[in-house]
Amino acid sequence: MNQEPRDQPSATRANLSQPAHALTAESVLNQQDVHPDEGLSAEEVTERHEKFGRNQLPSAPRPSSLKRLLLQFDNLLIYVLIGAAVMTAALQHWVDTIVILAVVVVNAIIGFVQEGKAESALAAIRDMLSPTTSVIRDGQRIEIDSADLVPGDIVVLEAGDRVAADLRLFEARGAKIDESPLTGESVPVEKTTAAVTADAPLAERTCIAHSGTMLTAGYCRGVVVATGCQSELGRISGMIAEVEAVETPLLSQMRQFAKVLTIVILGIGAVLLLLGLAYSDYPVSELFMMLVGLSVAAIPEGLPAILTVTLAIGVQSMARRNAIVRRLPAIEALGSVSVICSDKTGTLTRNEMTVRDVITPKGEYRVSGEGYTPHGGFSKADHDISTSEHQDLLQLARGALLCNDADAWLAEGEWRHTGDPMEAALLAMAGKAGFDPKSERRQYPRNDAIPFDATHKFMATLHHDHMGSSIVFMKGAPEVVIDRCAACYGENEETPLDKAHWHEAAEKLAASGRRVLALACKPRTESGPLSFDELDEGLSLLGLVGLIDPPREEAITAVALCQQAGIRVKMITGDHAATAAAIGQQLGLKATSQVLSGKDIEAMDDQALASQLARVDVFARTSPEHKLRLVRALQAQGEVVAMTGDGVNDAPALKRADIGIAMGGKGTEAAKDASEIVLADDNFATIAAAVEAGRTVYDNLKKAIVFLLPVNGGESLTLIAALALGITPPITPVQLLWVNMVSSVVLAMTLAFERTEPETMRRPPRPASEPIISRFILWRVGFVSLLFMLGIFGNFTLAQQNGASIEEARTMAVNTLIAMEIFYLFAVRFLHGRSLSLRGALGTKPVLIAIGVVLSLQAMFTYAPFMEAFFHTAALSLRELGYITLTGVGVLLILEAEKGLLKRFMR
Ligand code: ATP
Repeated sequence: MNQEPRDQPSATRANLSQPAHALTAESVLNQQDVHPDEGLSAEEVTERHEKFGRNQLPSAPRPSSLKRLLLQFDNLLIYVLIGAAVMTAALQHWVDTIVILAVVVVNAIIGFVQEGKAESALAAIRDMLSPTTSVIRDGQRIEIDSADLVPGDIVVLEAGDRVAADLRLFEARGAKIDESPLTGESVPVEKTTAAVTADAPLAERTCIAHSGTMLTAGYCRGVVVATGCQSELGRISGMIAEVEAVETPLLSQMRQFAKVLTIVILGIGAVLLLLGLAYSDYPVSELFMMLVGLSVAAIPEGLPAILTVTLAIGVQSMARRNAIVRRLPAIEALGSVSVICSDKTGTLTRNEMTVRDVITPKGEYRVSGEGYTPHGGFSKADHDISTSEHQDLLQLARGALLCNDADAWLAEGEWRHTGDPMEAALLAMAGKAGFDPKSERRQYPRNDAIPFDATHKFMATLHHDHMGSSIVFMKGAPEVVIDRCAACYGENEETPLDKAHWHEAAEKLAASGRRVLALACKPRTESGPLSFDELDEGLSLLGLVGLIDPPREEAITAVALCQQAGIRVKMITGDHAATAAAIGQQLGLKATSQVLSGKDIEAMDDQALASQLARVDVFARTSPEHKLRLVRALQAQGEVVAMTGDGVNDAPALKRADIGIAMGGKGTEAAKDASEIVLADDNFATIAAAVEAGRTVYDNLKKAIVFLLPVNGGESLTLIAALALGITPPITPVQLLWVNMVSSVVLAMTLAFERTEPETMRRPPRPASEPIISRFILWRVGFVSLLFMLGIFGNFTLAQQNGASIEEARTMAVNTLIAMEIFYLFAVRFLHGRSLSLRGALGTKPVLIAIGVVLSLQAMFTYAPFMEAFFHTAALSLRELGYITLTGVGVLLILEAEKGLLKRFMR
């Protein structure tokens, strides 16, 4: 709920004599009354919440309901219907006029309600993606909903984070911010902590991180100085963008199709009218009524509403499975995905890390204990050891603890952690070695850091002790760290490091599926900030750490499911080649014997890379740029690629992929922005589920089209045939509208709820270029239209031959059409498989309800006196009802035979 601020939030600014960018960081922190390492306390947060309200911009007002309702009438289809109403009124066919106008209004109301429902469903899903911000409160780094930020909060930003309020920076390391949403300038701006002049324009306020912008590189911390409407973004835009329209390529294709269809029908109608006037002896008024009939018969009135509902239901069902669709067209594209490129850590593996091995220059150790609890110990050659006697282990553990941004604490008897799970595992390992992170960090405070980045693959921190000496710790990918080391820690510095031996040791650990890290340190004499250059060489190697991160069980099943569905799964990871190959094998990837590394990819030209793609499913030690090259290479081979990513540098590959998939948990805002789908649980199995759901939605859309179009087709053919043969039309325009707007819509609606067909994930992906109105659909629509026409004419003629009145014969014709629709619904529910099965016969709850409703409505239509008067219907005998049912069964049987024949000939 939006909470109205009690005070004017401008108080934040008013109490600063100068704007925050003109004051030193210290004075802003003082004025906000907050310590940068402690942050606000819970009470202060509550107080400030009450004072300043939530950190939100008001949403833009939606167009009024009346306007949205009126917009529903602005539609070619409605114009045609209104034209028909005018024509019937001119001919004084008042009942027709009333019914047509009623249909116009009902259609608009249905459209209005459905659109509203679909939009609110999407808005609710978008709310699930509400951004979070990392803050320090009560001395603890925690993740909060960005809307809960208050002035005075200490915010920690890492590359890829979106800035959620205006911050005065007091720490900035290599920080670059993309301010294009505010200034239009697309080149990221370097940020520092120094104050600027009070009159500096927005683009030059280098010590402020503005709300709505994004950190593209580096790291920074700042104190919130303005939230919500008081931020610069709030002042400029004042409100957040409106919800996205409910539109996909398929929907617009269908809208276009409906338009063309309408124009064609009107054209045919006009020609028939002219021919009729010239050559037949039909009275003019009757010819006009036939034209009206033809227009209402041929136009699929209910189709747009049904397609929108189907899509909205699909989006909701995906959200229930943790796949949040950010852009609707993705649902359709999902059905065509032929390759899924997934990263490893956390997506295919559990991202529950535990240190199992430590190798130092003095020996190899095993580490016991589970999870993130610091309980367990070390053993060497199967004998437990006491770490206090092993300086090598202690220094490595100290490095692992200090060169680390994670935090762990005991709450309600359970160990919780924030930050990277791998770093949390290192903290647990240090705990097992006897360290208390808090006191160790106090003893060796951090002066500077080079944050981890997937491109350089290491992290380094600078610390000093209370005697004044400084030390740098580095941890990272073994090949990166080992190559920068000159000697082993604790050994004679004159003895050069046996790099080959250490590389081999890392390789051996990795081959058993361990994730391997190397740690090193270097005493430091000079002062000043850490530089990359000084870390290029001369470090002392502390040792290697091997962590386990087992594959997710459900990922193994999902990989198999994807492969069965003709989708190739490729793993693209930043991890070591041997680790990646071992995990790839455990997951059941197809081609794991050969691994391509980032370096290999760089050495290949596009052609060479393309020739390797079919033979390789594991790509290791890749950087985000390699992902982009891989997507391009795969797309060049005609593949439809889904690609996962989480970092800020993954954005180009995510954008380029046909479906970008961002991690909801560990993903940066930058990655989410670039993606079509966000996985709430970061789990590969969810991608497979989303593909299945995407295929189902597409199938259901197709089913709705295949179901509705022949009804219109059959009706039109009937009228055209009647006109051509010069006989009375078997169904009147008003009756046609009843069928189209009531029975057909009720029946078709059930298709939106259809479950996944059993063989959905055994079919190969749908070719991306396949139009929805495929040859198969054209055939099916044409064939069923013909069957419907024959059924209607057959029973209409039969009734007349048996001496029935025209009313009775027409009632028979309408009910025959409805019966055929009901049985056809069962055929359509399984486009590919057999309908005559137990599952097919039992139907689903929505199907049974819809049939119940339609049968009751038809009973009323046929037997209720007021309906008989209105629609010119007459009661039918049991025998006639029998004929009607038999015709419906006949349609189902013929279609089953057709399915069988098609299957045989298509093979
Ligand atoms: P994936 O790309 O599948 O998520 P990954 O996590 O191994 O796998 P990156 O995050 O690119 O990929 O990491 C690459 C390598 O960098 C890791 O294998 C590890 O050796 C090292 N590394 C990862 N995180 C850190 C960190 N926080 N500090 C130091 N080194 C790290």
